Amino acid sequence: MATKQVLVIGGGVTGCAIAHDLTLRGVEVTVVERGELASGTTGRCSAFLHSGSRYAVTDPEAADECIAENQIMRKVMPSGMIEPDDGLFILLKGDDPAYADQWFQGCADAGITAKEISPAEVARREPLVTREISRAAITPDAVIEALRFALVFAATARVNGAHFLPYSEVQDFLMDADRVIGLKLKNRVTGELFELRGDAVINAAGPWVGEISSLIGIRIPLSMSPGVHVIIGKRLVNHTINLIRKPASGDFAYPQGPQTILGTTSWTVENCDHLRAPKEHITNTLRDGEVIIPSLRKYPVLSVNAATRPLIAKPGANERELSRKFEVFDHAEINGVESFVTIGGGKLTIARAMAEKTCDVVCKKLGVDAPCRTASTPMVSWRRFYVG
Ligand SMILES: Cc1cc2nc3c(=O)[nH]c(=O)nc-3n(C[C@H](O)[C@H](O)[C@H](O)COP(=O)(O)OP(=O)(O)OC[C@H]3O[C@@H](n4cnc5c(N)ncnc54)[C@H](O)[C@@H]3O)c2cc1C
Repeated sequence: MATKQVLVIGGGVTGCAIAHDLTLRGVEVTVVERGELASGTTGRCSAFLHSGSRYAVTDPEAADECIAENQIMRKVMPSGMIEPDDGLFILLKGDDPAYADQWFQGCADAGITAKEISPAEVARREPLVTREISRAAITPDAVIEALRFALVFAATARVNGAHFLPYSEVQDFLMDADRVIGLKLKNRVTGELFELRGDAVINAAGPWVGEISSLIGIRIPLSMSPGVHVIIGKRLVNHTINLIRKPASGDFAYPQGPQTILGTTSWTVENCDHLRAPKEHITNTLRDGEVIIPSLRKYPVLSVNAATRPLIAKPGANERELSRKFEVFDHAEINGVESFVTIGGGKLTIARAMAEKTCDVVCKKLGVDAPCRTASTPMVSWRRFYVG
């Protein structure tokens, strides 16, 4: 059987993880990305390797997925990719003690280690964090560097033969009746128009999946929900610090290299190009950050960024109530369009699992009988994306 060729739209962590998965199954892959790799949501997300504890009460399925992938990533990522500090969850004095009980139980149910420590131990580990704490726990949450995280998948895929075309914008589909047979693209550096053909096309364009699918009249039920981060120019904490509360705005602070990042907020937009961080989201994030680190204002704000979560929409639910789960849309089944699959929703932490589900669907369509091997295959350094 001739080698199957798949085109992947989007060079965020999802597209890169898909390329890695497919190359291991012997499929030829080309990833097209209109900017640089990870220039969309991936490069500007909080970059927690979630343990799932954040979702232990409100979204147990997401918690299960996160802890499973957290453990797999620790095995297959190259060393040095995951900062060694753990997560620290704190219950502020005055916050709901019953919620904390539910949270500890939720972690236990999901198999997430949440080791209770005393407020005195928090003070020893985190001198700048508030003393207004009644309970605290250490969890296997961690920080990664999002660009490098995506590049590890891309580098491994490239070493295994995948092609990456940055600055290549999808402008339309090539169709043969109801079958997608390729893409029409524009090179955003030279302006050149060109076409690529493939046996299947995967739409992994994050918050832009709806825009892509609308080119052939397909609507994806996606809610585009941006969030803001405020970056402080000094490392003030040693752990990723979350409040033991229902996930809400301004409930975490974490270290990244020499900086501290505060986040995040949420609202909805119709179009996530040219995203701006609303002023009140910045002031509210600083206000909420001060609750966790009271001396915060002594240090400079280096920058602010905003990125958009691609969330699966649910009628009547607000952004915080929408699950961080993902969905694979086989457009042959849903819309009668063959050889076209969209992956929507999800999180960076679970990109590998999202790729596995997507590639299972696509490989079945293509008659490729090869199991997913990404859960046990060690990946190469992100640097090899550039040096081979
Ligand atoms: C504020 C915020 C904080 C978050 N924090 C975390 C966290 O701590 N941990 C976690 O696990 N997850 C987190 N997430 C979620 C996570 O960032 C996303 O789920 C993930 O990065 C999405 O990756 P993606 O590859 O699907 O999308 P993207 O990274 O957006 O990639 C899609 C790509 O498609 C490209 N594209 C768009 N249109 C075209 C076109 N016409 N032609 C070619 N290419 C195109 C874009 O340029 C983009 O690079 C956060 C999200 C937000 C917004």
